[in-house]
Amino acid sequence: MSTIPARSARTASGNTPTITARAAVGRSRMSRSAPISVGLTRRPRRQWSCEKAGRGKTAMAIEGQYLGMGLRIDELDVENVEYFKHCAAHDFHLQACAQCNRLRYPPTTACPWCMSRESTWKKVAGKGAVHSYTEVHHAIQPSFRAKTPYMVLLVDLDTQKGEPTPDEALRVIGNLCTPDGQLAPPDMVKRVGVGTRVRMVFSDVSDGIALPQWTIDETAQQPAKVWRYAQE
Ligand SMILES: [Zn+2]
Repeated sequence: MSTIPARSARTASGNTPTITARAAVGRSRMSRSAPISVGLTRRPRRQWSCEKAGRGKTAMAIEGQYLGMGLRIDELDVENVEYFKHCAAHDFHLQACAQCNRLRYPPTTACPWCMSRESTWKKVAGKGAVHSYTEVHHAIQPSFRAKTPYMVLLVDLDTQKGEPTPDEALRVIGNLCTPDGQLAPPDMVKRVGVGTRVRMVFSDVSDGIALPQWTIDETAQQPAKVWRYAQE
């Protein structure tokens, strides 16, 4: 991916069926992305539900409400259940491959580089710089109107940046938020662009789910100028 934001909408997504990154990275005023980074469900369900996971095992789906919308991680989606449990404890963990040791994001069943299915969860520092962003001004539904403009950030983690090739990085999607995990106000949105140093914060959703988000890293040295789309 280029260091300059793409002009056409581009969607980054996990390759699991029940959690889908919805943040489109693209042209600011054309975006229709929602101010969240996990998939939506319209099915009304209890917050916790126990279901048979096969072979006699019982597992639990995790559900919650975020900005008036239901989120659900199915019990069989074991990688995302584990990932969001760590997030719920305000701890950022990624899978480290047991074969090649590389970290990967989003959570997946097998290593994208060596195909190994063995991995362990490793604590990772939530620090990085904005690689690209979308600034959303048109709400995708009426309940989002009060939240605009909001920002969807694609952040290069400092950890494993430039590996395994110079242009690669672990790129983690989240909204721009205040340090307490609320969507950032307009004056904060205006300060952020490509290159802004950010740190991870969490938006609590329910027991078992918090969304990893980003806020300006007040302790970091910021670039003298960050790249932003031309403003009207
Ligand atoms: Zn590997």
